[in-house]
Amino acid sequence: MFGEVYDVIVVGGGHAGAEAAAAAANMGSKTLLATMNLQTIGQMSCNPAMGGIAKGQIVREIDALGGYSGIISDKSAIQFKMLNKSKGPAMWSPRVQSDRMRFAEEWRLALERTPNVDFYQEMIQGLLLEGNKVVGVKTSLGIDIRGKAVVLTNGTFLNGLIHIGDKQFGGGRAGEKAATGITEQLTKLGFESGRMKTGTPPRVDGRSLDYSKMIVQPGDAIPEKFSYLDTPVLTEQRDCYMSHTSTLVHDLLKEGFDRSPMFNGRIKSIGPRYCPSIEDKINRFADKDSHQLFVEPEGWDTVEVYVNGFSTSLPEDVQFKALRSVVGFEKVKFFRPGYAIEYDYFPPTQLKHTLETKLVENLYFAGQINGTTGYEEAASQGLMAGINAHLKLNEKEPFILKRDEAYIGVLIDDLITKGTEEPYRMFTSRAEYRTLLRQDNADLRLTPKSYAIGLASEDRLKRREEKERRSAALVSFFKKTSVIPEDINPILDRVNSSLVKQSDKMFKVFSRPNVTMEHMMELKSVSDYVAENDLGREEMEQAEIQIKYAGYIEKEKNNADKLHRLENVKIPDNFDYRKLKSLSFEAREKLEAIRPVTISQASRISGVSPSDISVLLVYMGR
Ligand code: FAD
Repeated sequence: MFGEVYDVIVVGGGHAGAEAAAAAANMGSKTLLATMNLQTIGQMSCNPAMGGIAKGQIVREIDALGGYSGIISDKSAIQFKMLNKSKGPAMWSPRVQSDRMRFAEEWRLALERTPNVDFYQEMIQGLLLEGNKVVGVKTSLGIDIRGKAVVLTNGTFLNGLIHIGDKQFGGGRAGEKAATGITEQLTKLGFESGRMKTGTPPRVDGRSLDYSKMIVQPGDAIPEKFSYLDTPVLTEQRDCYMSHTSTLVHDLLKEGFDRSPMFNGRIKSIGPRYCPSIEDKINRFADKDSHQLFVEPEGWDTVEVYVNGFSTSLPEDVQFKALRSVVGFEKVKFFRPGYAIEYDYFPPTQLKHTLETKLVENLYFAGQINGTTGYEEAASQGLMAGINAHLKLNEKEPFILKRDEAYIGVLIDDLITKGTEEPYRMFTSRAEYRTLLRQDNADLRLTPKSYAIGLASEDRLKRREEKERRSAALVSFFKKTSVIPEDINPILDRVNSSLVKQSDKMFKVFSRPNVTMEHMMELKSVSDYVAENDLGREEMEQAEIQIKYAGYIEKEKNNADKLHRLENVKIPDNFDYRKLKSLSFEAREKLEAIRPVTISQASRISGVSPSDISVLLVYMGR
């Protein structure tokens, strides 16, 4: 590896780095994954779970694009749940509980099996530059490794500082050292950096817990999975459990507040709003006597347990005493106390849509370094950075997903257009076209695009085409076939829907609220069609959604088309906003700083008002 010139060097083997390396290599780039510890590739720093609300959709999108996170999640799952199943399909979100050790092992093996990926274990301390172009990296031993593009995915490691009570020490994660040098070099080059913080709960010994006092939380009776490929479906699952805190637990925790780095001013940076520490919850929701705790096994065989909901940086003795007062935890033994970590990030408005930095050519940032939180957010950025680094080196058009095409598009557009001052996590509410961005259709939306740029395999494309063809055929079967009152009325009666007096098209009755595919399957002609055509769950679900949500889907498509019109009005690269005197001062400043590429992107910048957009449109002759 010494003396070699790589196409793409990926720094960091976390979720972003692993996806970046896989994507670049699978597209044909000679890739080096340089990371501090090869044993921690794909390490889950916090909760042993993938997916969840909006995050599950992202994992499905990564999979549809040919990334590995969905496959790895399926191979290492111990429990599956489709969240929000009682709501409309735009809200359905797959989530798995993962075997933490197996997850990391599967990542390492998947990368080892990927041609074009070399590995190197060492801390990268700086970048090699020629003018404003990156040409490689420098290791802590002083070795120069040359590469045409570099993707930085340092996660929580840049000048990481761990806090437990009044103790603090440098570290990128429990038991791992912090990364130094990179922030200092980048800020000298003119990059703006900031600090964020996040926290994690204690890990405990499952043998010391009394599960009989807790509420069992089983997985779905019929588990699904993430990948659109032939990955395994769970045949058995591990249960999770639920317990809760009490006023006694809160009082015990409060005893440590004066030694809490969160409250005595030692931690100054902002943490994830939607993942607060237990001390934060007690403080912010003082009227609540109890908070839920989810007790999650860390794997199939290990006795280690993750106490979801008890993230804390209070002194370890306070954590321990308080946790022993939780129902079922009376005899708890610690594997490791919880802690908080502060780390450097780079405000993502310094990036282009490709995740290439505006300041240094061929340098890409992905993952927590961009101010996001979460494995899924990180992995998807890594994938996009790896793809775009490869495309740019090969002088191809950039690969950018629009807001109506993918959650990944929403994520990246939000980051680079609006920036973020607190750890950014994805929510369904961030996507204005969420009826289009469902977990069931990520393959329909994205696989052809990825195949066209040379990442998704032909096998993926074929499966996607089969699914589209067969689900469309089922929809047209419902459109063509009629049902007689004798057959359908007993079903309609059961779901409190008005009865039909004469035979009617199946499509029409199926469109009614409360009538589901399960009901339709009670009709012999439907179950015969499904059996004869050997239709699977995904194809039937797809047909059902197309029928029942046709109106909503159409409406969102129309809205998205309107947006595309603004998306097509490009703003020239070096546009001089100062000459537009009628722009507000704030708009001019923000537009200068972010330099949107289209009018549509400009309209999403906070501080740019509709009247500023009108000024721009008039200037562009629209
Ligand atoms: P990471 O997974 O952090 O991976 C970074 C990788 O880069 C590591 O392999 C590291 O060894 C390597 N590396 C770093 N610097 C260098 C260097 N200079 N040279 C070589 N290698 C380097 N997310 C949530 O969604 N909810 C939470 O509650 C939550 N809590 C967290 C609590 C803690 C304590 C931590 C540490 C993380 C938490 N996270 C949480 C965040 C989640 O772990 C990250 O969002 C995700 O792992 C980010 O992925 P990444 O690839 O960007 O970075």
